[in-house]
Amino acid sequence: MTDSRIPADLPDHIRHYIDGAFVDSTDGDTFDVLDPVTNQTYTTAAAGKKADIELAVAAAKRAFDEGPWPRMLPRERSRVLHKIADIVESRDARLAELESYDSGLPITQALGQARRAAENFRFFADLIVAQSDDAFKVPGKQMNYVNRKPIGVAGLITPWNTPFMLESWKLGPALATGNTVVLKPAEFTPLSASLWAGIFEEAGLPKGVFNLVNGLGEDAGDALVKHPDVPLISFTGESRTGQIIFGNAAPFLKGLSMELGGKSPAVVFADADLEAAVDATIFGVFSLNGERCTAGSRIIVERSIYDEFVERYAAQAKRVTVGYPHDPATEVGALVHPEHYDKVMSYVEIGKTEGRLVAGGGRPEGFDEGNFVAPTVFADVSPDARIFQEEIFGPVVAITPFDSDEEALALANNTKYGLAAYIWTNDLTRAHNFAQSVEAGMVWLNSNNVRDLRTPFGGVKASGLGHEGGYRSIDFYTDQQSVHITLGGAHNPTFGKQDPHEPTDLDDPDPR
Ligand code: NAD
Repeated sequence: MTDSRIPADLPDHIRHYIDGAFVDSTDGDTFDVLDPVTNQTYTTAAAGKKADIELAVAAAKRAFDEGPWPRMLPRERSRVLHKIADIVESRDARLAELESYDSGLPITQALGQARRAAENFRFFADLIVAQSDDAFKVPGKQMNYVNRKPIGVAGLITPWNTPFMLESWKLGPALATGNTVVLKPAEFTPLSASLWAGIFEEAGLPKGVFNLVNGLGEDAGDALVKHPDVPLISFTGESRTGQIIFGNAAPFLKGLSMELGGKSPAVVFADADLEAAVDATIFGVFSLNGERCTAGSRIIVERSIYDEFVERYAAQAKRVTVGYPHDPATEVGALVHPEHYDKVMSYVEIGKTEGRLVAGGGRPEGFDEGNFVAPTVFADVSPDARIFQEEIFGPVVAITPFDSDEEALALANNTKYGLAAYIWTNDLTRAHNFAQSVEAGMVWLNSNNVRDLRTPFGGVKASGLGHEGGYRSIDFYTDQQSVHITLGGAHNPTFGKQDPHEPTDLDDPDPR
């Protein structure tokens, strides 16, 4: 292997960014960052703890209480956000190169994620200038309107699967609405997050508005969740971590938005366009190395086409190109970290006892080191199998047959998760009935996961809490204060003016 895959000018150390300056941890602690192709340490990052979070929150709180950002006109904030989007777009190739190197994502897909990050900023920049709020009139009596306000310091905690893009998904709306932030990115992939500081400075974001603390979830993440001056936590990660954060935030009654794990079904009926369904379900589970929260990792196929589907699917899965992340021909790269590789490989072994292996099943040929896993397909998987129930978050898929619409729905819903569902059928009535009955926050009919940024994003059951996306994000990051004013004379129930000739007016329209 040549070194052409190693980006030029990699940092030899990654710092926090607090109050407009790059700083190390107060205790000097660091952690190693590995390259997923060799699993060698290529840099270190500052390991933040409670003391570092305290500095970052204090800076963000100062910027919120005293700085210009929350007080600027939406148009002024929007200009800064558009500049951020311009800079991200103009550096998409470099961003993709670094992201791909740090995370193991194929370079072409990392490029798409960088562009989506720019689009997230652009979208929320546009949304806040178009934003209108409700006003309600009771003719001649009362006028009521919504005074929307940023909330304060938002704590943003993100995973490693598409780091830069998922950070933008939270940073865009949190900043657009006038909050200040502390970002705690995933410890496996701190490289691209460290680029935000320079981008934001260049775009003119005031000092202290954006703060970044690297570190482990149990240290830096935990301290952020438990900080009393952080009223909001937006978290994306595993359902189990979401439960811990929920518990830790409870004493503070914080606002929580949680985008969690998934085990999404892709249901293929016999009347579907088979070629499109195979293409989509291959992409749905093997893109982003299978490290995709909305992966259609359980494929449920009508019995009459089951054998043909499995045969075509397995043949195509075997042709998916596994390769080095920097190679534009690569379709599946290297999993993010050896710990995650071990987890995925353990499921591959479990799968061999639970299903019929029809593709993959281990390391791809020619890749003796690094976190490479061949696209792996198990057929005839029973619904109580662990590989049918548990999120693997790698290039591994379980296929199961069904005989009736009712059975397909029961299989689709037979999991603790409820993030996405993909339905393949040409029967319009069935498609909509199924979509409306399936327990999933998002459904795609005869479609891959193609997102419209205006739509709600979120899961049901163990896949999440609340929704972001479009105005839902604006709602999460703002308070909607109701302001009421009387028109005409004050409408007062009168107390303390008791005159035996005039009865007290106790007409209180909403006695709360
Ligand atoms: P994770 O839960 O291990 O970590 C996510 C983040 O939480 C990291 O920054 C981590 O440091 C931090 N963290 C860990 N413990 C913490 C604690 N006790 N307190 C505060 N912060 C803590 O998840 P991961 O392995 O990084 O990511 C993969 C998971 O993310 C998968 O389950 C995947 O489905 C999910 N995901 C969901 C979505 C979605 O939108 N629903 C999107 C991407 C990924």
